Amino acid sequence: MSAPARPAALERIPVMIPWLGPEEAQAAADAVLSGWVAQGPRVAAFEAAFAERVGAAHGVAVSSCTTALHLALVALDLGPGDEVVVPSLSFIATANAVRYVGAQPVFADVEAATGNLTAATVDAVRTERTKAVVVVHQGGVPADVRTLRERCAQWGVALVEDAACAIGSTVGGASVGRGALLAAWSFHPRKVVTTGEGGMITTDDAAWAQRLRRLREHGMNASAAQRHASSTPVLESYLEVGFNYRMTDIQAAVGLVQLGKLDEMVARRRALAARYDELLADVPGLVPVRDPAYGQGNFQSYWVLPAEDFPVGRDELLAALSEAGISARRGIMAAHLEPAYRGHPHVALPVTERISRDSLILPLFHTMTEAQQDRVIAVLREQARA
Ligand SMILES: *Cc1c(COP(=O)(O)O)cnc(C)c1O
Repeated sequence: MSAPARPAALERIPVMIPWLGPEEAQAAADAVLSGWVAQGPRVAAFEAAFAERVGAAHGVAVSSCTTALHLALVALDLGPGDEVVVPSLSFIATANAVRYVGAQPVFADVEAATGNLTAATVDAVRTERTKAVVVVHQGGVPADVRTLRERCAQWGVALVEDAACAIGSTVGGASVGRGALLAAWSFHPRKVVTTGEGGMITTDDAAWAQRLRRLREHGMNASAAQRHASSTPVLESYLEVGFNYRMTDIQAAVGLVQLGKLDEMVARRRALAARYDELLADVPGLVPVRDPAYGQGNFQSYWVLPAEDFPVGRDELLAALSEAGISARRGIMAAHLEPAYRGHPHVALPVTERISRDSLILPLFHTMTEAQQDRVIAVLREQARA
């Protein structure tokens, strides 16, 4: 007699899968076969298409959002003695970029509804040394940049936008990045549009764009592509100390295909988020992230915040999900709680600490099925009754 058949193991549900297909593979292959794989015509085409998509005059492609943030702060001529207000509730690169230029990151708290800085939380930590603010559109939830831009202009402070997560998110019906002084974007696979690794800076300022192009390429006054295209020898010179922060044409080729799928990706993510909302309506004590009144998110991250009296803790929830074959993640980290920022002075950050301690990010990816969403909700419902 044989043992009774065990039910087939359920397939593990990842938290995110990039939506890549044969078109991206073909575009990468075409770039390789063209013989030009470093920064070249495909990067230029990707920059133009991306800038147009977000409504900015210029796009400067770089190797990551981290390097995009670094260069944005270099372009603002920030350095030792300057303070830059940032949220602690962000991926640590936001604060680190300030350290790269030798300036001081000053952590401000966020509002509970969006997880983003507001004019009030920035004002609470502003001093006469504050030269810039880096606002993050956290997890794709747009920040209220219209108010922040107005207040920063009054204060004489530059507003940089960390839009790593926010391609396809909108404020007042316009794309995030439209009207931004400097916005930094990421194409890491955890984000909505991916090139493997990669980043972009968008701006309306032609002089900044020109300097950013130079800074990403060792401070050279003529790019390798320009020198290659010239029929006469171009003797480059190095105008300032720059970096090698270039994107490759292979990455840009993938990015161009991804950008063409953006509307479909955002529509799908928003539909899955709306279905999660519906299903969570009868799971007491779990509050999902929502669109703010002034804009719409791309739901790059769909997070829920358990009520203070939720029967189990966040880490127990993550463990229960994991046991059921579901990869969820802790919510957004808080940089000020990491060893890298131990001893770094900061004001009380109660909202930041509550969100980073208690929130969790649920799986959401383009090809996610209703059955997979139902499995996630079933675990949460069971834990809510625990
Ligand atoms: C992912 C992320 C970054 C870093 O992006 P990379 O392209 O990986 O350097 C920076 N800021 C925020 C808010 C992010 O989510």
